[in-house]
Amino acid sequence: MTNLTELADRLAAGAVVTDPATRRERAIDSWSLALLRRAAGDEPPLPDAVIFPRSTDDVAIALAWASETRTAVIPRGAGSGVCGGAQAAAGSVVLDLSLMNRVTSVDTVSRVVAVEAGTRGDRLEGVLAEHDLTVGHYPQSVAISTVGGWIAASSAGQASAGFGAIEDVVLGLTAVTPRGEILRCRPVPRSAAGPDLRRLLVGSEGTLAVVTEAVLACRPRVRDWVWLARQFPSFPALADGLRAVVQADLGAVVIRGYDEADAQLSFGALGHSAGCAGIVGFPAHVPGLTERTALAAQAMSRAGSSPPPADLGPGYGEHWWAHRNDAVQTYAAIMGPDRAFGSGVVVDTVEVAGLWSVVPRLYDGVRTALASHAETVLCHLSHLHSAGSSLYFTFLIRGDDDHDAAARYRAAWEQAVRSCADAGGTMTHHHGVGRLKTPFLPVELGATGTAVLARIRAALDPDGIMNPEVLRP
Ligand SMILES: Cc1cc2nc3c(=O)[nH]c(=O)nc-3n(C[C@H](O)[C@H](O)[C@H](O)COP(=O)(O)OP(=O)(O)OC[C@H]3O[C@@H](n4cnc5c(N)ncnc54)[C@H](O)[C@@H]3O)c2cc1C
Repeated sequence: MTNLTELADRLAAGAVVTDPATRRERAIDSWSLALLRRAAGDEPPLPDAVIFPRSTDDVAIALAWASETRTAVIPRGAGSGVCGGAQAAAGSVVLDLSLMNRVTSVDTVSRVVAVEAGTRGDRLEGVLAEHDLTVGHYPQSVAISTVGGWIAASSAGQASAGFGAIEDVVLGLTAVTPRGEILRCRPVPRSAAGPDLRRLLVGSEGTLAVVTEAVLACRPRVRDWVWLARQFPSFPALADGLRAVVQADLGAVVIRGYDEADAQLSFGALGHSAGCAGIVGFPAHVPGLTERTALAAQAMSRAGSSPPPADLGPGYGEHWWAHRNDAVQTYAAIMGPDRAFGSGVVVDTVEVAGLWSVVPRLYDGVRTALASHAETVLCHLSHLHSAGSSLYFTFLIRGDDDHDAAARYRAAWEQAVRSCADAGGTMTHHHGVGRLKTPFLPVELGATGTAVLARIRAALDPDGIMNPEVLRP
């Protein structure tokens, strides 16, 4: 407490908060196992305090203090992370960036925006809309997540096929090292000045530095979309059809492919009853739109599915766009205090990725692994790249009670990660590692990779104060 008083003296009044409600609210993020445990009455340790900086200098003061006092620091954006990356540890302080939420400038000549790291996506997009611009980074959680969280968790938005993932739009950033030094990476379109320090912080999950400001690339706002949708007879046919579209390089911005079970859930309201569904979206303003859509349709038809893909019309894309963020409410209803599906139920998502040549094996392996523990398993191709794709599995486990559900959940994850590694994929495309996947890091990176990561970390954070239970197996 004496230490906290010292910190409070160095910051503005009200920046250090110790009331139990604030500490409890920020003790966990949106990891389903933590939510399940909380629902079962199993409370995680509360942080000693929550610190609300208002500037990069405040963050530097807080980290210098933490370094002097060897206090663990858990950086936090909006707490929408689903892997326990922002879960507090006993004796830690949470550094909550939510008051650093200013959009500081918009450069319409370069089409870039400078923004503080605690800014949520909906607010950022609201300001950019006044300039007819967008960052184009649209995670489902856009309204409940922050720019700093996107960078730290290596996020990908739903328009990543055209607009890229977060690493593609970060042009510059300011961060504070664990010792309280301010690192400024100036905004430039590209730089060859040594290894890219901006990239070092993408996916660092609060273990290397605290991101306080960023400069992000923007592009013209999409006012209207033109959608194609096709029904495929099987998952391999779906994957082939959408691979043909992404590899044809036609400028599609949204490309998504649903297996039969996920298609029924996602498009049941439209009467979808059988087969897989692929949707492709183009901004209506792109030049040569008619030719592009015709070529995309041809690419899907020529991909060799038998029977050939059937046209589902533009309604599927329109429906998807209108409901693209509904999962936020659904997830909160099931895993939050309402427990809409009752106790003993846990839902989560596994977002693996691999080259196209291993996508069919990944699909079969991870799906089978999850299905041995889960009542329901759905999958869609969520982020498509020229060389491969992310496979986004949603699963629901129903246990005898919450403890049984938690045990099954652990077993499902363990088996899914192993089968992903066997197929040559990565266990995470965009949700990051957090506490959930930290034990599996050696499976993913190997012994040398894990050791290299540990050495980078030790160089930047010799006292080991930054998010100590994450990315350190
Ligand atoms: C329903 C739902 C849907 C989702 N959909 C998507 C999606 O479509 N795409 C996607 O990529 N993710 C998605 N997510 C996951 C989540 O929204 C992202 O991981 C997001 O980037 C987290 O941002 P946040 O601000 O909430 O970060 P937090 O959850 O607060 O933190 C995430 C991690 O980053 C660290 N961190 C946060 N801010 C900083 C900072 N300024 N400096 C250093 N470290 C920091 C934390 O310590 C933690 O390790 C979804 C989550 C939910 C609940």
